[in-house]
Amino acid sequence: AVVNRSSKVFVAGARGMVGSAIVRRLRAAGYDNLLTPGREELDLLDARAVHQFLQAERPDYVFVAAARVGGILANNTYRADFLYENLMLECNLVHGAHQAGVQRLMFLGSSCIYPRDCPQPIREEYLLTGPLEPTNEPYAIAKIAGIKLCESYNLQHGRQYVSVMPTNLYGPNDNYDLHNSHVLPALIRKAQEAKERGDRTLPVWGSGHPRREFLYVDDLADACVYLMEQGYDGPLVNIGTGQDVTIRELAETVMRVVGFEGEITFDASKPDGTPRKLLDVSRLHGLGWQATTTLEEGIRRSWTDFCQRRSAGLL
Ligand code: GDP
Repeated sequence: AVVNRSSKVFVAGARGMVGSAIVRRLRAAGYDNLLTPGREELDLLDARAVHQFLQAERPDYVFVAAARVGGILANNTYRADFLYENLMLECNLVHGAHQAGVQRLMFLGSSCIYPRDCPQPIREEYLLTGPLEPTNEPYAIAKIAGIKLCESYNLQHGRQYVSVMPTNLYGPNDNYDLHNSHVLPALIRKAQEAKERGDRTLPVWGSGHPRREFLYVDDLADACVYLMEQGYDGPLVNIGTGQDVTIRELAETVMRVVGFEGEITFDASKPDGTPRKLLDVSRLHGLGWQATTTLEEGIRRSWTDFCQRRSAGLL
C-alpha cells in the first residue's frame, strides 16, 4: 500500500537535526499520525524495547534518521561508540521492523560510506570499490552494514527498504559543540563569537583546501518525503546539491553572513580528512527532485537558529 497522510509513520531519531526536519516536513504536508519517541521513551540501543515498540505500533513506514553522529574529531576519538551504537540501532530497527511486518522503510546513510579516493563526483556504484577514509571508518562501516541490512531483507524477504545517502548536512537543531560538531556549525559559532569578542582572526582546522558539499536539512527532508510518497523502491540514492566548495570558501561565506571581518588562520595540527566529497546526484535528478536552498541562504537560516537557541539558553 502506498503511504498517505493518514498512514502511521515512525521517525526514529525524531529529536535530532535530520529527524526533526523530516517531522517538520511531514506535519507541514498534513501527516498527523506520527510516532516520534525521544530517547527517554525509547532507547534504540535496547533491542527488546525497540521490538516491543514496533510490535505494539506496527507503523506503515519507518524513517531510520537516528544515528550517533559527529565531525571529524568525534568520529576519530569515539571510534568504538560510533561503530557499536550505529550497528546496534540499525539492527534493532531494521530487523524489528521486519519482524513487525513493516513493508516500507527508509534508511539514511552518509556520503562517507564511499571510498576515500574514489572518482568525483561520487556515483552510487562506487560503494565498496576501495579503502575508506580512516578518520571515520567505523562510522562508515556501520552505515554500509545498514545499507546491506536493508538490501538483504529486500532480497531474502521481499521488503521495500530503501537507502539514501545524504551529503554533509546542516540546519536548525545542529550540534554547535566545537569539539564534536561538523565544520559548518563550528564555523558559524566561531565567527559569531569572534565578532562578539572583537577578535581579528577566525581559526579554521586543516589547510582549507578540502572540498565539501553542503545540503540544508529541510531540503534533505523534502527529498526523503518525496521519495517516500513516490513509492521509490530502487537502489541506493545520493542526496546532495551537486556542488561543492573549499573549506576556505565556506569560511568566507560564513564570515560574510555573520558579518565578521577578520583573517582566516589555518590550524595544520587538525586533520583535513577526505580531500573531496561531492556526490553525483543524477539518479536523484532523474527521479524529479532537486535542492532549492542556496548555501548562503541556508547558512543565514542556520545562523539565525544558532543565535535564537543561544539566547534562549539552549546552547
Ligand atoms: P568530514 O566531512 O567528515 O571531514 O567532517 P567535518 O565536517 O568535521 O570536517 C570537514 C573539513 O572541515 C575537514 O577538512 C576539517 O578539518 C575542516 N574544518 C575546518 N574547521 C573546522 C572546525 O572548526 N570543525 C570541524 N569539525 N571541521 C573543521
